[in-house]
Amino acid sequence: MSAATSLPETPATPLPSPLPSPEPHERLSGPRRAVVLFVVQGIPLLGFCAGVWLFLREGIRAWDVGLLAAMYLLTMVGIEVGFHRYFAHRTFETTRPLRALFLILGSMAGQGSALLWSAVHRTHHAHTDQPGDIHSPWLGRRSAWDKLCGFFWAQFLWYLDVPAIGRFGRLLDRHRASPAGLLASRETDQEHRFARTLPDFLRDEPLVRLNQRYGTWVLLGFALPALAGGLVTGSWAGALRGLVWGGLVRYYVVQQVTFAINSVGHTVGVRSLNSRDYSRNNVVMAVLTLGAGWHNNHHAFPGSARVDFRWWQVDLGGLLIRLLARLGLAWEVRAPSPEALAAARTGH
Ligand SMILES: [Zn+2]
Ligand SMILES: [Zn+2]
Repeated sequence: MSAATSLPETPATPLPSPLPSPEPHERLSGPRRAVVLFVVQGIPLLGFCAGVWLFLREGIRAWDVGLLAAMYLLTMVGIEVGFHRYFAHRTFETTRPLRALFLILGSMAGQGSALLWSAVHRTHHAHTDQPGDIHSPWLGRRSAWDKLCGFFWAQFLWYLDVPAIGRFGRLLDRHRASPAGLLASRETDQEHRFARTLPDFLRDEPLVRLNQRYGTWVLLGFALPALAGGLVTGSWAGALRGLVWGGLVRYYVVQQVTFAINSVGHTVGVRSLNSRDYSRNNVVMAVLTLGAGWHNNHHAFPGSARVDFRWWQVDLGGLLIRLLARLGLAWEVRAPSPEALAAARTGH
């Protein structure tokens, strides 16, 4: 079992320097916004509606619930433990096979590749609730109506201001053989700024190659539950039900729960630690996201592998990392010192 490493009083995420500049602000053009909106929200919503239709027609069986729960858990582990705590924050180190597994499980959630997700998230932490934060519900929003719009934006629309989503993968492909040039570039477009947040990963060619197979992993997220449903029931109808519950419905639910960290996680809940932003602790979000909902805790100590700073705060993602450490599969598991925690408390 590895020893936890204490973080300094002012938490330091292993973010590179210089941090991505909040300027210039880029937006997609009108027609492209509609296309991206349809792809990111419309298609998953249609998939969810297929589940509602199936439920109204045939109800839901125990096996459907099991597949939905299992696929939710697998992809949420990929997002929270893999993409968030390993790739975006490097709160622990792990073996290469396990890192590949986290990359694949997180990609199956269909929220962008591990490196794109990490770049967006590192940008969020570099400018939390300030200009340059890609999905803050707060920016320039003072009236109640503004705040409602901000919440809606952070939950449903924020990616419309991230034109790099469609270009980032191609940029990585072009520079896979010579990432040093990409990291040293002074280009100011969003995808170059995103790339410069990832000096720890871009030189790792096998990892980048795995990352670039993102589309395959997304498809795997639908093929696996369909295969499981088909094999267990021995029928095509069973495969279709597996696809709907473990694939389509799971995809939409995991997406909305993850996006709720942007909206709910920065508006609804308690602030018990000084984090210099509007992040909140919210127990419902914490259970649904395997710990990310202790979002104020996380923003106060973003480099920490655990976010359960009170005995009653359940952090399933942190428990999994500790289990991996016990098994010798994770090390350099970082956590704040008791002194740093005490200094960060606000008294709530
Ligand atoms: Zn946040
Ligand atoms: Zn984070």
